[in-house]
Amino acid sequence: MVEFKREVPVSGKYDVVVCGGGPAGIGASLAAAREGCKTLIIERFGFFGGMATAGYVDPMSEFAYNGSLVTGGIPWEFANELVKAGGGIVEEPRCNVSFNPEIYKLVAQRMLLGAGVKLMMNTFLIGAECDDKKIKRIFVTNKSGISAIEAETFVDATGDGDLANFAGVPMLPLSERMQPGSFCFILSGVDTTTERMHIIHQKNHRFNHQAVFIRDTLFKLREEGEYVPQFGGPWLATTLEDGCITVNMTRSAVDATNAEEYCEAECKMREDIFRLVELICKHVPEFKNAKIASTAPMAGVRETRRIKGVHVLTGEEYVNTVKFPDSIARACHPVDIHLPGDEGQKLTFPKDAGYIPYRSLITNEYKNLLVAGRAASADSEAFAAIRVQAPCMEMGQAAGIAAGLAKRQGVCVTDINTDELVEIVRKYGSFV
Ligand SMILES: Cc1cc2nc3c(=O)[nH]c(=O)nc-3n(C[C@H](O)[C@H](O)[C@H](O)COP(=O)(O)OP(=O)(O)OC[C@H]3O[C@@H](n4cnc5c(N)ncnc54)[C@H](O)[C@@H]3O)c2cc1C
Repeated sequence: MVEFKREVPVSGKYDVVVCGGGPAGIGASLAAAREGCKTLIIERFGFFGGMATAGYVDPMSEFAYNGSLVTGGIPWEFANELVKAGGGIVEEPRCNVSFNPEIYKLVAQRMLLGAGVKLMMNTFLIGAECDDKKIKRIFVTNKSGISAIEAETFVDATGDGDLANFAGVPMLPLSERMQPGSFCFILSGVDTTTERMHIIHQKNHRFNHQAVFIRDTLFKLREEGEYVPQFGGPWLATTLEDGCITVNMTRSAVDATNAEEYCEAECKMREDIFRLVELICKHVPEFKNAKIASTAPMAGVRETRRIKGVHVLTGEEYVNTVKFPDSIARACHPVDIHLPGDEGQKLTFPKDAGYIPYRSLITNEYKNLLVAGRAASADSEAFAAIRVQAPCMEMGQAAGIAAGLAKRQGVCVTDINTDELVEIVRKYGSFV
């Protein structure tokens, strides 16, 4: 170990700093700015969307349960903005939203700028300085160098709980079998007009949308002695452009918070993509002219750290639709556990759309920290349901509103009046 010590400038002071610009970070920043907070969002890539755009994770799941909308507010507004911009399609009955990742990036930045959020892209969060009960400042790095940023409230929307981890917040034990990562890609030149390719439209399946005809072909080839890398699904979605689809099928049991392991997994899965596409093009007629248009900027990460918050949402609470006095978001995705090998998924369906309490976004350690999205406080079962994009953005929305309320009430986010919070969340259009 060596010590790394240096003086750095304070590059800004805000009411709210949101770390991470995925679905949760977008929701948090929009809500905080709309609640009158001077808000900054920090994002390591040069665009927003997190897994949606950096991981080509398509569609945005999911808004409706038994035909009724259950996730509303900013996520639903965002979905409708995507549609208006020609970059999204809402498909009933579940109201999953397939989208074009390039238009997603544009819509996200327009909405953030429109709300008055200050953007800081290509910037990595690298540390935090805390006193007794508060995060005082964070440290970031970008091409301008290392600097510190101060805020009244910090929202950790990094997906991996990076800020909470730097601050020493205790994490829940990782799942026994952590969900695997998948490196998604876009194919062009696919014949999407045949009956079985209608699977790319979310309206054509209720819960699962595996392309079974591709899966069966690959299993058969493996039996015949061909080398077929490990895969799941495949799950296909439309990018809304003729002949172009996103494909989610590679698999790697990797801890993405271990940089070396993640690098190895990314290289291996890139090789796997090329091999799998070679086989599919050769053996599945719709893909005979298909080409890899692009691989996602990063291999997708399903599961890493989760904080041990004031409340740990359990799978039992989720599937039994337990409603909390401080419910701030809803989700209706099944408990969806992807298994590391070729075995597919384990799905458990909730009785009705489940609830997420505000207490799963705050910690006992810090009074000015909120953790929204994938790293919120939930056990591995509840996590496997609330990890999808619509509820992550709705958790972000609640975090932003809470920061605004804290500012107005002159208290910290752990001490706000949660009845008032829930009222405002409802006014935003959420069904809590
Ligand atoms: C293969 C795969 C398939 C999936 N399928 C679906 C699906 O069909 N439908 C669905 O809705 N969801 C799906 N999901 C889940 C969903 O995409 C994610 O759980 C969701 O995007 C989480 O949102 P988030 O905002 O919490 O985190 P993320 O989307 O991970 O966003 C985190 C953001 O923070 C940034 N960041 C991270 N660390 C730092 C740092 N230190 N400094 C600065 N910035 C940082 C990242 O660049 C990113 O933009 C899938 C996920 C994967 C991996």
